[in-house]
Amino acid sequence: MALYADLHRHLGGSVVPRVLWRYFQRRDLELSERFPDYAEFEEFYTRSRNTLDEYLELHTLVESVQSAETLPYFIYRLIRGAYIFENLAYLELRYTPYLRTSEALSQTQRIDEMAKIVEIVGKTSRVPEYPMVTSQILCTHSRLPYAVNRAIVDLAAQMPEYVCAIDVAGGDSHYAERLDEFIQLYEYARSRGIKTTGHLYETPDGCYPELLPYLMRIGHGIQIPLRYPHLLKDVAARNQCLEVCPTTYLKTGTLDDLHHLKTVFDRCFDAGVDIAICTDNAGLHNVRLPFEYENLLTQDVIDFRQLQACQEAAFRHAFAWPHDQPPASLLTEALTR
Ligand SMILES: [Zn+2]
Repeated sequence: MALYADLHRHLGGSVVPRVLWRYFQRRDLELSERFPDYAEFEEFYTRSRNTLDEYLELHTLVESVQSAETLPYFIYRLIRGAYIFENLAYLELRYTPYLRTSEALSQTQRIDEMAKIVEIVGKTSRVPEYPMVTSQILCTHSRLPYAVNRAIVDLAAQMPEYVCAIDVAGGDSHYAERLDEFIQLYEYARSRGIKTTGHLYETPDGCYPELLPYLMRIGHGIQIPLRYPHLLKDVAARNQCLEVCPTTYLKTGTLDDLHHLKTVFDRCFDAGVDIAICTDNAGLHNVRLPFEYENLLTQDVIDFRQLQACQEAAFRHAFAWPHDQPPASLLTEALTR
């Protein structure tokens, strides 16, 4: 029996359109009036955007309704869907905790409020009737001040029972002017024993070789095999895994056809670089993990052997999976005994 791991999923983009629309109808008069019709809302919510920045704009709509009070509502439905429809045994959820705090508070108050958000997400994502291993990745953000990002790293170090790693997000073209700052933050995180991933080499504008050595996994990283294949040798030597999220590249206009990913998979396999296939924003895309797998198979991007290798790599590179083996091996013993 196959159970899966998703290593790259944003809390904001994980709300499927039906759940979000129903939430507006039940609890948010203003947004329910803006989107009276479900079909129209789904079309607006899931349609492709021209650029990564335009695509990220949509996250702000979800962030605006995800607060300390409403997070349990969304997370319960997220875990239920992931368990019932996606066969997930393991899920790392990522988000910027600062952006879930109240805008009415001062920066210092919002920083203090972040621990409460992490605790709410941690507690509500453990649902007894839908058991799976979950952990959080806290995203530093290219548009937030250094003090906030530093506090996010500190929080990750302080709450290991809920947090497994840090990330950098917010559009990879915006790191350039503050690259030294982010390198410093990652150095600091590593010095405190925090695991690291980062949105890097996602688009042609987000390629920063200086930041690469600090990452244990690479959020996307597809431009490495596509444009800088000479780097693959070092990526393999550092045992860095690429978190490849196929549907994203079509939605952000980064790729015009899924076939380009064949080059990504083939070059990584040849170089001995692991890939975990992930959803990124399963709700926003309305594409759940098993369909990401199936799309790659039916479009001949990968074969079954490669798919299974990626599924196993996901458990090997999971930051908080507590077992030596993936769940299939554990279950097979129990089922065939
Ligand atoms: Zn992402």
